Amino acid sequence: MSFYEEVEIEDMTYLPDTQDYTYPCPCGDNFIISLEELYDGEDVGLCPSCTLRIKIVFEEEDLPELEEVEEEVEEEEEEEEEEEEKLDEQIGAIALDEPPSP
Ligand SMILES: [Zn+2]
Repeated sequence: MSFYEEVEIEDMTYLPDTQDYTYPCPCGDNFIISLEELYDGEDVGLCPSCTLRIKIVFEEEDLPELEEVEEEVEEEEEEEEEEEEKLDEQIGAIALDEPPSP
C-alpha cells in the first residue's frame, strides 16, 4: 500500500461540526477521515474523488474529545412517547365504555 503523503494530524483541518479531519488533495477534493476512525486506530485518509490516500501521523492523546452522537437513542425516546399517548387513549376508551363498578 503506497501513500501520496504522510501528514501530521496538526497539518490537517478539523471540522468540529462533523468531527472529521480533512486535508487538500491534489485533485481538488479533500482527503477525509473521521475522528471516530482515528480513535479506532485508522490512520489512512481517503479522497472521495480519486484513488490517492494519505497516512496520518498522530497520537491518540493529540485528538480532541470524541462526542458520541447517538441519533438512534433519540428516535427510541420518541417512539416511547407515542406509545404512552396510545395507552392513554386506550385507558380513556375503556373508561368510557365500561364505567368502573362500585
Ligand atoms: Zn483526490
